[in-house]
Amino acid sequence: MTALIRKFVECESPSDDAAAVNRFVDLVADTVTPYASVKTKPGGQYGRLLTAEMKLPGRKKDGQVLALGHSDTVWPMGTLHGMPFREAGGRLWGPGVLDMKAGIVFFLFAVQGLRELEIPATAKVVLQLNPDEEVGSEVSRPLTEKNAAASRAVLVLEPGTGLTGKLKTARKGVGDFTVTVRGKASHAGVDFGAGASAIVELARQINQIAGFTEADKGITVNPGVIQGGTRTNVVAAEARAEIDIRVLRLKDAPVLEKRFRALKPYDERCRIEVTGGLNRPPMERGAGIVKLFRLAEKLGTELGVKLEESLTGGGSDGNFTAALGIPTLDGLGAVGEGAHAATASILVERMADRTALIGKLLASI
Ligand SMILES: [Zn+2]
Repeated sequence: MTALIRKFVECESPSDDAAAVNRFVDLVADTVTPYASVKTKPGGQYGRLLTAEMKLPGRKKDGQVLALGHSDTVWPMGTLHGMPFREAGGRLWGPGVLDMKAGIVFFLFAVQGLRELEIPATAKVVLQLNPDEEVGSEVSRPLTEKNAAASRAVLVLEPGTGLTGKLKTARKGVGDFTVTVRGKASHAGVDFGAGASAIVELARQINQIAGFTEADKGITVNPGVIQGGTRTNVVAAEARAEIDIRVLRLKDAPVLEKRFRALKPYDERCRIEVTGGLNRPPMERGAGIVKLFRLAEKLGTELGVKLEESLTGGGSDGNFTAALGIPTLDGLGAVGEGAHAATASILVERMADRTALIGKLLASI
């Protein structure tokens, strides 16, 4: 497993480099060809989408289980030079090892385990790898939803939460807004009063927008980027803020959106334009998800592992599948820490039980 994880990590695949992602997709396709039927589909400006139907023991397949992952990482090409793959301190390190190349390897070994032990799977098992998950899944979303709609359950190979590897049974919905203020430029010395500062107006708006956060309801609003103005001696004609929003419940999204659309300028000479909205619905912890988690919990006990569940503010493609009402269990991939950080690493001692858990799930659902 370590050798295959190394091969996957050393084949760098940043979202914005389609050729690199395609090299990784080809590597996965070559790896699974002996025991799966592989299809790929163009991903527009991104790499190709991969779908692979596993050849598993057991005759009649009833329904489908979708294993969901992504081929892209947040790490630019060449990151390996300063952050090479290595095994040290009981961990595997390297760009993308945790999020989520190890998770893909666990799934592939789980499938091989079922084949070698001749353990039947009752459902058809399909793996889907998306090339654009780290940049919003705009291209892959329709295929994810199509495959999920045809499935009785979705298993997401994203890493678990924390160093105990809690499974993810709820994820917040994610969106973003851009608030653009257009004021009136003038000379800051000669004609100050003729200007209407877009920067001053935006600052007042941001103060109000930050107040949309309702931590007790799980709503957070983060003005993450601001831009504006041209020179110190010019009253700024334009300024803009990009704001990240997270909601726990789908019904909170339209309420929040309304508040953004209702922003009114303090200075009537300024105009406000708001674009954006929710792009990933929340994965709400419904009955189907709880049932799937209980099953995993029971299978974990058989493996001597106590599995816990968690809620995360981060989104994944599991948000889309859960929002369709398909029971979705997320965080089944690696146990480790430092996703998207230089400390990204996974625990070697948790590779086997995670793989066995995925295999048991495929044989039980
Ligand atoms: Zn991920």
